[in-house]
Amino acid sequence: MAKKQFKAESKRLLDLMINSIYTNKEIFLREILSNASDAEDKLAYRALTDDSVGLNRGDFKVIITPDKLARTLTISDNGIGMTKEELDGNLGTICKSGSLKFKEDLANDEVKAEDIDVIGQFGVGFYSAFMVADEVTVITKAYGSDTGYKWTSTGLDGYTITECDKTGVGTDVILHIKPDTEDEKYELYLEEYRIQELVKKYSDYIRYPIQMLLHKSRQKPRPEDAGDDYKPEWEDYTEWSTMNSMVPVWQKKKDDVTQEEYNNFYQDKFGDFEAPLDTIKVSAEGAVSYDALLFVPSKTPYDFYTREYEKGLQLYSSGVLIMETCADLLPDYLRFVKGVVDTPDVSLNISREMLQQTRELKVIAKNLDKKIRGSLAKMLKDDREKYETFWKAFGTQLKYGVVSNYGMDKDNLKDLLMFLSSASEKGTTLKEYKERMPESQKYIYYACGEDAAKLGKLPQAERILDAGYEILFLTEEVDEFCMQVLGEYDGKQLKSINADDALPETDEEKKAAEEKAESGKEVLDFMKETLGEKVKDVRISRILKTHPVCMVSDGPMSIEMEKYLKRQNADMGGFKAERVLEVNADAPVFETIRSAMAADPEKAKKYVELLYCQALLIAELPLEDPSAYTDLVCSLMN
Ligand code: ADP
Ligand code: MG
Repeated sequence: MAKKQFKAESKRLLDLMINSIYTNKEIFLREILSNASDAEDKLAYRALTDDSVGLNRGDFKVIITPDKLARTLTISDNGIGMTKEELDGNLGTICKSGSLKFKEDLANDEVKAEDIDVIGQFGVGFYSAFMVADEVTVITKAYGSDTGYKWTSTGLDGYTITECDKTGVGTDVILHIKPDTEDEKYELYLEEYRIQELVKKYSDYIRYPIQMLLHKSRQKPRPEDAGDDYKPEWEDYTEWSTMNSMVPVWQKKKDDVTQEEYNNFYQDKFGDFEAPLDTIKVSAEGAVSYDALLFVPSKTPYDFYTREYEKGLQLYSSGVLIMETCADLLPDYLRFVKGVVDTPDVSLNISREMLQQTRELKVIAKNLDKKIRGSLAKMLKDDREKYETFWKAFGTQLKYGVVSNYGMDKDNLKDLLMFLSSASEKGTTLKEYKERMPESQKYIYYACGEDAAKLGKLPQAERILDAGYEILFLTEEVDEFCMQVLGEYDGKQLKSINADDALPETDEEKKAAEEKAESGKEVLDFMKETLGEKVKDVRISRILKTHPVCMVSDGPMSIEMEKYLKRQNADMGGFKAERVLEVNADAPVFETIRSAMAADPEKAKKYVELLYCQALLIAELPLEDPSAYTDLVCSLMN
């Protein structure tokens, strides 16, 4: 029978993993045990609706057997087992979901801290066995199958699968422990005390008994006829012992659990290498009772923006898993939250379709939403730096939460939002912005574009900044939609710096502006005629200070939205913002055009074209004809 090769990328990962990724080799046991527990869960779930499984909840267990002579550590479960195909698929490829990014990261062979995170998020748990074993054998029989299979691998050189005998459904994972080295005493993993320690440390909450036959010794009872010179005798005996307490961590009182336990639970259950940023424990009693243990990851999961990522919480009914990812428990804007919910109020064998309809679930979802937002608000208040980390990873989600659902959730989310601004490089909340507003400032200002550094230099920004007003720099695509949905914050209108009424004017200023427009009319008409269809309007700017021109838009679609649609390839209908060229009547070029109109109308037209192109460039809009533009500049230079 031929040896199969691991898929190429698996191979390199495996190498990395065994040799450099995990510094903490002892976690292999946690990984193997959690797989066993998953397998038990799967069969236990099956048993709820299928009598032929023939096992009761109390029958499921995991057994660990160390054998010092053979130098093997065997972990056996009576869970769902694997078919031959599953064996091949699940253990033959690491990270089946394999993403390109990850391969790119590996392309350069140096392992950096970031790589570790990436790798930690793939389904690579099983392979951690090779950190302590030089050969791994998996003997398994799937539920419903008559044949057992044996998978063997010594690591990098591939694996073999053969048929074999196996009594009973389930899986034995047999690790042949590596020889000791100077740095690492691998044989310790065969010591009962060490195994007990590791089970306690990492797998205490596993809901199935993890048992081992312990070798103990005791004093023999004193024989009745023992004389004065009797010396107590010792005898060896063995005893099965359950090493884990089996109480799910989420059912324990908050005070009885350390943060480290929570972290271990989270990292194990949700395959994250990093501790969670926030842990939220909820216990509710009343109309609907439940325990929930929720986590906010500290980094964006590698697959967060892919189709593979599933939002949802694990749903248990009195400690029995009934749904792996129950999406209805979380609103979309909190899709990054991981965790478990356990309630006695949802029936065990309820179908998934029915589940969505249940009132209990809706009540729980609503409460959790509130709790999570509350916890985030608290983080923002108490630990700014932490919140910024959170915001970097998941802030965009909350912004999408504002704009989706017809803006229904905006009031719940508005105080959690952060934006960059001219006054804060790290981001400001709307509340903080408002607190900084001078008396004279009427609006909350924002400018949209890709790069915050450029936004402050926009011609339109000058007058507002000079007035001592702050501008929010909106650099994310969703930001502008967010502003439109919000409309205002705490009584202050949100205003684009492109709006022609961005700076309120006194009656005098209004009058002066109208006069300016009147006296500039001739020039404006000339510009409009020259530019024709290219712009919807040319008008005297009320916001420009020293810069001669800027491009703004009229109507509901802004220039930034036009760019956004173009990037999304969604401009099939050729959606275009209606462009309006604003000119500064106080800028010297305005008079230059006026004089050229009389002296050399052809030249005046060129000036107008030039200004138009400059406005496009400033707005980071593409020039319709770049070479015509350079010709134009050259012809003016000559
Ligand atoms: P993950 O647990 O993150 O999916 P692993 O590398 O730990 O990744 O395991 C890969 C897959 O192998 C599991 O998803 C499961 O399908 C299968 N598997 C591993 N161990 C067992 C087991 N003891 N019983 C049944 N299936 C198992
Ligand atoms: Mg696993």
